[in-house]
Amino acid sequence: MIDLTKSKAAFEEAKKYMPGGVNSPVRSYPHMGCPPPFIQEAHGSHITDIDGNTYIDYVGSWGPMVLGHAHPAVIKAIQKAAERSTSYGAPTVMETEIAELIHQVYPSIEKMRMVNSGTEATMSALRAARGYTGRDKILKFEGCYHGHGDSLLVKAGSGAATFGSPDSAGVTKGTAKDTLVVPYNDIPAFTKMMDEKGDEIAAVIVEPVAGNMCCVPPVEGFLEALRKETEKHGTVLIFDEVMCGFRTTFHGAQARYHIHPDMTCLGKIIGGGLPAAAYGGRREIMNCIAPDGSVYQAGTLSGNPLAVTAGIETLKQMMAIPDFDKILEKKTKDLLTGWKQAADKAGVPLVCHQSGSMFGIFFSEKDVLNYHDACSANAAQFKAWFLSMLNQHIYLAPSPFETLFMSYAHSDEDIEKTIQAADKAMEEAAK
Ligand code: PLP
Repeated sequence: MIDLTKSKAAFEEAKKYMPGGVNSPVRSYPHMGCPPPFIQEAHGSHITDIDGNTYIDYVGSWGPMVLGHAHPAVIKAIQKAAERSTSYGAPTVMETEIAELIHQVYPSIEKMRMVNSGTEATMSALRAARGYTGRDKILKFEGCYHGHGDSLLVKAGSGAATFGSPDSAGVTKGTAKDTLVVPYNDIPAFTKMMDEKGDEIAAVIVEPVAGNMCCVPPVEGFLEALRKETEKHGTVLIFDEVMCGFRTTFHGAQARYHIHPDMTCLGKIIGGGLPAAAYGGRREIMNCIAPDGSVYQAGTLSGNPLAVTAGIETLKQMMAIPDFDKILEKKTKDLLTGWKQAADKAGVPLVCHQSGSMFGIFFSEKDVLNYHDACSANAAQFKAWFLSMLNQHIYLAPSPFETLFMSYAHSDEDIEKTIQAADKAMEEAAK
């Protein structure tokens, strides 16, 4: 067993002053039977806690750390930017630079606005869609998580699913009634809903590769159906690529599946580990945003110089490495192949999913296509697997509903060590 004495004490102290002792629920290690390691520092593919345990990290701050932690070029750029001030609340040239860069990578984003979190990005995109269409209703998919905005905490994934509260208390019935929900990957259910209500729906919002009921890629024809039906009904199609952007491919899920959404939300990687996100899309929709239009949205720290600097540097570093996304995809595939072999050896039924450098496993005999399937996976086996991996210094997300992330910093040796650890962890899961 690893020694978590200092983390345990720090957690007890934190619980006195913060709900659950944390600033985001899943960090509290719900249902895992051990305190969360409190983190001291992280470099490359490794993260170290205050007890001095060092782990190979596949959480990567829940996605942003695609280059690995404390990448020297990113840190240097942030340091230089910080010397000039940490915030201006006024326009800077670098904000146009990141918008141009993002437009190059995501041509469907003709205009964009920066915000501070993925939550803000999705909330603001929905407001824009409602303002643009003059309609109230939105449609989301069960198990997709789009941040904690009121209208999106309905049948949500991620922490909401982990804690068994996909429909949050505190969301008014009035708000929830405008959110329609259908199962992910269910083309007939979606088409039926659009036939019945399509003309009242402002926006369909989707994680084109779901990453908050663990990793669930779209079935063939699903995203095509979304595009076709939304076009038919004049509904705005929003791809929430906060997680899968730059990971499914560098150009996102929209490039992998050749679907052009009307709007896209980005986050995580575009802040290089600092708080930044963005929403954008077709010019005529974005022209509805203040000051050009009547949809109000603003932010004291939006386009913050440190976050924008970290984002630009991260994207540039990724672009400088030929086939960056393919390299990460291959590392991920190698890892999952090893995990699957370990599961087979131990006689544990395992489903492995991957989309580029995001990945996850389900302790399940049948494939997982939606939230219902994800909930049917074996939670006890997940816990045994998770604890065994942690004890072998492999840092995974402490919930079966969370996706894992590969970074460029993960070496072949890291992957080999992680596969070796999986042998034992799968035996634990089999008990
Ligand atoms: N959208 C997706 C797909 C996400 O995965 C997340 C967070 O994990 C969000 C939105 C919310 O982003 P944030 O946590 O930055 O508010």
